Amino acid sequence: MTPRKAIAEKCKDCTYDEFDTGTWIFQVEKCESVECSLHEFRPMTNATQTKLKAEKYQNMSVEEKEKADVLADIVRKRFSRK
Ligand code: SF4
Repeated sequence: MTPRKAIAEKCKDCTYDEFDTGTWIFQVEKCESVECSLHEFRPMTNATQTKLKAEKYQNMSVEEKEKADVLADIVRKRFSRK
């Protein structure tokens, strides 16, 4: 099991209520226990991850954006389907 999966399982076990609204990951994303050591590592929906990445990119310096763009290009080329 990977650390990411272990955290996801812990968060799901901690928060998920099958009778509440939303999927388990939606419910975990809404967790407000900021004092929990796993809080910043908890799973989030793809939509939220995309939004947070965009916000982080917006706040980067020009140099940081250039580095991020180069890295994103490398990742895109490496993992693009042929
Ligand atoms: S981050 Fe929230 S859901 Fe995850 S273990 Fe901590 S308190 Fe539970």
